[in-house]
Amino acid sequence: MDISFREDSADEKAFRMEVRAWLAKTLPDDLRGLSTRSTYERTQWWHKQIFARGWIAPHWPREYGGMEATLNQQIILKEEFARAGAPELSGQGLNHIGPILMQFGTPEQKAKHLPPILAGDVVWCQGYSEPNAGSDLASLTTRGDVQGDHIIVNGQKIWTTWAHHAHWIFALIRTDPGAARKQAGISFILIDMKTPGIKPSGIKTIAGDDEFAQVFFDNVRVPITNLVGKLNDGWKIANSLLVHERLGNANPQVAIDVVDRVRKIGAATGMMELAAFRDRLARLELDLLSLSAAYSHAIGIINAGRELGPDSSFMKIVGTELLQRATDLLIEAAGAEGASLERIDTPEGRVDAATAFLQSRRATIYGGSGEIQRNILSKRVLTLP
Ligand SMILES: Cc1cc2nc3c(=O)[nH]c(=O)nc-3n(C[C@H](O)[C@H](O)[C@H](O)COP(=O)(O)OP(=O)(O)OC[C@H]3O[C@@H](n4cnc5c(N)ncnc54)[C@H](O)[C@@H]3O)c2cc1C
Repeated sequence: MDISFREDSADEKAFRMEVRAWLAKTLPDDLRGLSTRSTYERTQWWHKQIFARGWIAPHWPREYGGMEATLNQQIILKEEFARAGAPELSGQGLNHIGPILMQFGTPEQKAKHLPPILAGDVVWCQGYSEPNAGSDLASLTTRGDVQGDHIIVNGQKIWTTWAHHAHWIFALIRTDPGAARKQAGISFILIDMKTPGIKPSGIKTIAGDDEFAQVFFDNVRVPITNLVGKLNDGWKIANSLLVHERLGNANPQVAIDVVDRVRKIGAATGMMELAAFRDRLARLELDLLSLSAAYSHAIGIINAGRELGPDSSFMKIVGTELLQRATDLLIEAAGAEGASLERIDTPEGRVDAATAFLQSRRATIYGGSGEIQRNILSKRVLTLP
């Protein structure tokens, strides 16, 4: 299914074909079409292949070893990697702490941390959420007490993606519990996961993988030089990347690939012969077409140098809900086999249904839940009280 509203220029078309050919040659079968992340070793191997090709950080400036690609080139890479079924990499280094350090880090922090993120030698995790601070993140209570040239950290984080594989964590900690506004007493800090007193403990997800962990901090001594920005000024740093993250979550390509899988499985099980099923698929495809148009419009706004603002919340809601609708249809297409976590045999190869369905449930939670995005739209766009 090809429903992109963006038209590649001649150069972009050539780039797209180059990426497609490289993926066809380099991406092994055992890493294609997985709905859960592969093992740590295989995922890092894949990271290094992309690094060697020079495409690991399309959005990073050249001065830091990135590609400094145009937004369209970045989207082409994302689309072609999704189309080939390439596995998800750990994005916390490349997409979060890397850009944060470029903007707010000291020269020493940049020199130490950026090169190993690019090379795939160091894995980062994000320590924001806590058991009682998710949507209301500013309520976080993990403490950081300054003692001489160290900060002593005590508390707990949760839902920390890949914490049990990570070498470093970037975390929000409360360094001034007496601040007038709760957002004002928070600092942003980098912590080596080997520091004594840190204990990650894995959590299995609904899809059966070990994607998350809780992280406990018991008198963890962190050098004060690991602060990013100033003490108590971490909130603005944490918020600096959210708009682009939401737009990234709205790219329709992932749902479009699920629709291709719905067709394959539906043809194998006979569901595609049912008019009612084809009708639901057609409705979904039309809605994806609308999302694709809105997405292209949003890219146009950014390419014109304008801010996207709260529109990114709308894109996140629609993009993630359509992905879930697509995986609902995948389960329906699979019929009796829909309950199995095993891949389903079709004349066009083995296709994943149940795992994709389970994995897509999370899309309306991370990066700000659907309800929170609706709150943003009602306040900032509809100006409701
Ligand atoms: C796949 C995935 C990966 C994640 N990775 C990380 C990570 O690496 N690091 C990290 O720090 N965190 C991570 N998280 C956690 C994520 O940021 C939180 O789950 C998210 O912020 C929601 O917080 P919560 O789970 O505490 O839910 P809560 O905030 O307790 O919300 C529970 C429910 O109440 C609703 N709700 C809450 N407040 C309001 C309101 N004001 N109005 C209306 N409805 C409301 C929410 O929408 C939700 O449905 C990840 C989550 C997922 C799903």
